[in-house]
Amino acid sequence: MANTPYPESYYAASANGAPPRPALQDDVETDVCVIGAGYTGLSSALFLLENGFRVTVLEAAKVGFGASGRNGGQIVNSYSRDIDVIERSVGPKQAQLLGQMAFEGGRIIRERVAKYNIQCDLKDGGVFAAITAKQMGHLESQKRLWERFGHTQLELLDQRRIREVVACDQYVGGMLDMSGGHIHPLNLVLGEAAAVESLGGTIYEQSPAVRIERGANPVVHTPQGKVRAKFIIVAGNAYIGNLVPELAAKSMPCGTQVVATEPLGEELAKRLLPQDYCVEDCNYLLDYYRLSADKRLIFGGGVVYGARDPANIEAIIRPKMLKAFPQLKDVKIDYAWTGNFLLTLSRLPQVGRLGDNIYYSQGCSGHGVTYTHLAGKVLAEALRGQAERFDAFADLPHYPFPGGQLLRTPFAALGAWYYGLRDKFGY
Ligand SMILES: Cc1cc2nc3c(=O)[nH]c(=O)nc-3n(C[C@H](O)[C@H](O)[C@H](O)COP(=O)(O)OP(=O)(O)OC[C@H]3O[C@@H](n4cnc5c(N)ncnc54)[C@H](O)[C@@H]3O)c2cc1C
Repeated sequence: MANTPYPESYYAASANGAPPRPALQDDVETDVCVIGAGYTGLSSALFLLENGFRVTVLEAAKVGFGASGRNGGQIVNSYSRDIDVIERSVGPKQAQLLGQMAFEGGRIIRERVAKYNIQCDLKDGGVFAAITAKQMGHLESQKRLWERFGHTQLELLDQRRIREVVACDQYVGGMLDMSGGHIHPLNLVLGEAAAVESLGGTIYEQSPAVRIERGANPVVHTPQGKVRAKFIIVAGNAYIGNLVPELAAKSMPCGTQVVATEPLGEELAKRLLPQDYCVEDCNYLLDYYRLSADKRLIFGGGVVYGARDPANIEAIIRPKMLKAFPQLKDVKIDYAWTGNFLLTLSRLPQVGRLGDNIYYSQGCSGHGVTYTHLAGKVLAEALRGQAERFDAFADLPHYPFPGGQLLRTPFAALGAWYYGLRDKFGY
């Protein structure tokens, strides 16, 4: 396979150094073969290595090539559908378990950063910004809900208070979550890869899994080698294609776009986001933004169903950015990039086992920075024979998109258009 470079993002331009990693050219044997070196794969690998497993990671391109190295960098708690929705669709015991886990991913990230000394510009504090009174009402109930599950670092912000944390006139209020926050996403995943290697794990880059030979001793084939393992973890998310057809049928890759401005300078940056919190609004098709360590505004938003790469990303994102911050009209965009996340119909992650020894987690549907770190822990627990938390996820009901693989994109786009209209008119 040709040497796939990172997309030209701000993150790639400011990435910490990483060692060259070879492509797999042999036949190797291991306990666990992980497919995909994003947060899901590397979080799984780390927990497994810490528990004495031998781990080999296969990455089709480079560590963090997927969403983990391109995202908005926002540490957002809970899932893309909140615990109240889960409570309504599953029994109380399962909902309780999933609710308790909803705030664990952020803790795992902070533990990893501290334990392995990962330099990824970690900052505490994330704001959910309400554009309408209805959204503010939703945040009030979300606070009560999260507190019921033991999450206490929350503060409701009225219109005056939110103006103290973000210089945007669009908001009627918001909620500050001090256990939210932000990171340089590519440097986090690169640090996690280094941690995997420090514990004796092996990562092969430019080594796509092209076939899985299932059975009692499964084998993962790459173009020039193969890995025989006791267990396989499939962690390719939106970039996995049709490697595992059962998984492709129930999910849909979607693109979302991000820009980084030129450095704004200390003074302007402090005027926009005085406490350096990250912000996402409460729309269905939401905007999200934050400052980088060198005081650029990193601004993302929009969804392209079916994950086609838009021709002009700046033309999509700049108007959104200027709507929130008209004061940036003369500011240049230095970088613009796109990345894919995996959408499921319920917007809840899909976790499970194929046969006895192939495990997977995918499809956190937008908010995945925290969930993927939790997923690694839950998958590792299951491989160690403690499957209670794994089962709580695996038992969530999932359905294929209407229209199958052919028509799911227009159907989902139609649904999003409807929700986009609701956002626009404040319903
Ligand atoms: C632009 C963007 C912005 C986002 N912003 C946020 C945010 O601010 N906050 C938040 O919580 N979430 C955000 N998300 C979502 C979040 O980034 C993802 O949910 C998360 O990174 C998914 O991690 P992952 O490891 O499951 O998948 P990925 O990071 O996509 O990793 C999958 C890896 O598997 C590899 N792979 C695929 N197929 C194979 C194969 N056959 N063989 C070997 N390797 C393979 C890929 O190359 C890739 O490196 C965003 C997503 C995008 C795209």
